Amino acid sequence: MTSRVMRDFDLLLPESVAQAITLLATHKDKAAVLAGGTDLLVALKFDYDIDNVVSLALVPGLDVLEFDSERGLAIGAKVTIADLLKSSDVKEYYPALWQSAKVFATPQLRNTATVIGNILRASPAGDCSLAIYALGGILTLENATGRREVDLDDFWISYGVTARKDDELTISLQVPAPATGQKSAFRRMTRVTEDLSKLNAAVCLQMDGDECTGARVAMGCVGPTLIRLPKVENMLAGSVVTPELLQEISDTVASEINPIDDIRSSAEYRLKVAGVLVKRVIKLALNEGNDQ
Ligand SMILES: Cc1cc2nc3c(=O)[nH]c(=O)nc-3n(C[C@H](O)[C@H](O)[C@H](O)COP(=O)(O)OP(=O)(O)OC[C@H]3O[C@@H](n4cnc5c(N)ncnc54)[C@H](O)[C@@H]3O)c2cc1C
Repeated sequence: MTSRVMRDFDLLLPESVAQAITLLATHKDKAAVLAGGTDLLVALKFDYDIDNVVSLALVPGLDVLEFDSERGLAIGAKVTIADLLKSSDVKEYYPALWQSAKVFATPQLRNTATVIGNILRASPAGDCSLAIYALGGILTLENATGRREVDLDDFWISYGVTARKDDELTISLQVPAPATGQKSAFRRMTRVTEDLSKLNAAVCLQMDGDECTGARVAMGCVGPTLIRLPKVENMLAGSVVTPELLQEISDTVASEINPIDDIRSSAEYRLKVAGVLVKRVIKLALNEGNDQ
């Protein structure tokens, strides 16, 4: 734990989305939204130039977690990682997301940390963010001028930077409904169980019998943002997933990533094992390896 002292700030407690948006419009880049606070409160002990914290604690209507077989999964801004784990719909229809929630931090953290907060933090290691990146998702953001939707594919710009404007509140995330034959999985590697990932991977495969007709493959901790692996996705699309193909994929992954040395791992190690992790997560999605 750091011994740094948290900076002074005004804690603002709006009681509606409209009030929260008015506060964000007033304070703009001198305000930050507080959901679970597990990232924000740490950032406020460092050089985070924020004077106003807009808490969502008293804002109603942001805790919806709802599955619809046509519209998919709606995740409100106050839905926690623990809420995901309690959802039989998430477990059944979005295994990658459920698996990412299962290994996320500790029970205390999971009870507090939100899914949307994980996405807004824009960390290249975010576990639930990565699973959702593979599954696909659309964020709804709102400011004083109205609402807009942003595809997750266009949301993370660089480390810690997103397409969200300073005065926007993220309202919810919509994950598409799974088509018949959709299979997904998530896996991560950590130094110790409760640490942040040093490498993580998630896949969403559209299967038609033995043939993969389309794939989204995402990796974390291998660049400034979470990334997708287009070469691997193209290798999977239109193919039967044989052991030979999996080996080719494993050999290709290193050419698609750009990891760095940091306190959790070295670039060299990440480059060496990334292909193996991707191979394993594909097998897990196809139920050939099962750690649910
Ligand atoms: C001990 C520890 C262990 C952790 N382990 C993991 C782990 O295993 N895996 C992992 O992925 N992460 C981990 N984290 C990181 C953190 O818990 C997650 O990123 C978490 O999901 C953030 O959610 P939150 O609700 O706490 O976000 P907050 O801290 O409240 O917010 C995070 C950022 O998002 C912004 N924000 C939040 N909600 C909104 C909104 N509705 N609209 C606009 N902006 C918003 C905030 O202003 C802030 O910039 C860990 C953190 C700690 C301290």
